[in-house]
Amino acid sequence: EKCWDSRSPVVARPQSTTRWMSPRMRQMERLLKQQEYHQLDVQEKPAQDSMSLRARTDIVAMIQECRNHLNGKAPWASMPCQPRRISVCIRKRPLNQREVELNDTDVVTVSCQGMVIVHEAKQKLDLTQYLNNQVFRFDHAFDGHAANELVYRHTAQPLVDIIFQGGMATCFAYGQTGSGKTHTMRGSISSKGIYVLVAEDVFRRLQYPNYQKLELWVYGAFFEIYRDKVFDLLNRKKRLRVLEDGKKQTQVVGLCEKEVTSMEDVIRLIETGSSCRMAGQTSANTQSSRSHAIFQIILKKRGQLYAKFSLIDLAGNERGADITTADKQTRLEGADINKSLLALKECIRALRHNKAHTPFRASKLTQVLRDSIIGRNSYTCMIATISPGIRSCEHTLNTLRYANCVKELVVDLNSLE
Ligand code: ADP
Ligand code: MG
Repeated sequence: EKCWDSRSPVVARPQSTTRWMSPRMRQMERLLKQQEYHQLDVQEKPAQDSMSLRARTDIVAMIQECRNHLNGKAPWASMPCQPRRISVCIRKRPLNQREVELNDTDVVTVSCQGMVIVHEAKQKLDLTQYLNNQVFRFDHAFDGHAANELVYRHTAQPLVDIIFQGGMATCFAYGQTGSGKTHTMRGSISSKGIYVLVAEDVFRRLQYPNYQKLELWVYGAFFEIYRDKVFDLLNRKKRLRVLEDGKKQTQVVGLCEKEVTSMEDVIRLIETGSSCRMAGQTSANTQSSRSHAIFQIILKKRGQLYAKFSLIDLAGNERGADITTADKQTRLEGADINKSLLALKECIRALRHNKAHTPFRASKLTQVLRDSIIGRNSYTCMIATISPGIRSCEHTLNTLRYANCVKELVVDLNSLE
């Protein structure tokens, strides 16, 4: 089974269309109607490269027209930042230099209130171009202008207080290779990522009188899961075993947990772990995109676990599709990635439905995160990263469908205003 569903996005029709609708809602209605209408006479989607200049110009103009209709307030204006047990956000990165040089078309629009529209270029049987607009809605959606701090404020930051109250928090970056997972989680020289931003907030809170009296100690751990095996990134990729104890708690045996007392300590851990992750690789994205990296900030009280914040840079989701290639190694990697991303989705869904049974044993990823994801006081946020270009359209849709399954939020068009 693939980790994404091939179903079309779950977009509910409003109960009644006779109710008053704002222009923006009416536009959404029109998009949804178009979507249904054009499903009848679809030919193969033309690749951007084979598209004539005329066709491409038409597509760009149609996307622009659609955007003009949707133009409203800033997509993230007036959004509440309350912690939620499960929240799912989308982050679209800007077109990169290479895509600009290749004259790639930006086919993703982030609209108000967590709305994301993928303008899929299609061709009718009579060869005329049209847009198949696929509409999704999430807790939040960020476009290419959003900085890491803004994304952080609406995703991981509300969960920092949760860990001071003894809860478990988890933040995933999910998406295609090159869509911005590492940029979001680890950050870059010019922009702090979520690892650093969480750590800063943790140290800040340690100074609050209320939290000071908890007498908490902070530790960091950093490990990677590759081919369903766990490797310690703070201990020269030492292979670690995962065991389940009598209380059904999973333990990563011998995982290095380093005490950190300052941001310098944290940054050193991130650098050590990241360079360990990249060691021996020929190009930046070859191997690291095939493993899940897990950075944990752990709070302890009198030597006992008090709470954990797990920050996860997942393997590129397109790798899960590498199960039909001739290369055996790639095929096996793809199968493991697919299995773990599917298990992750199922575990989060089980949490949402308060199911007694969760398939956490189906992969190492879900096994090691068991207490974080399905504990009674656990909170999870997923940041699904997407590329804007027409060339990535298929992968973008797969990412949005997966995120949609995790979210399971049904759009009520009447609640949009
Ligand atoms: P991934 O980890 O998903 O494979 P990266 O985070 O490595 O992708 O991003 C690929 C490239 O795109 C990097 O050069 C990164 O700096 C850039 N990038 C990603 N997201 C953004 C963004 N939101 N704004 C600016 N640059 C970005
Ligand atoms: Mg990466």
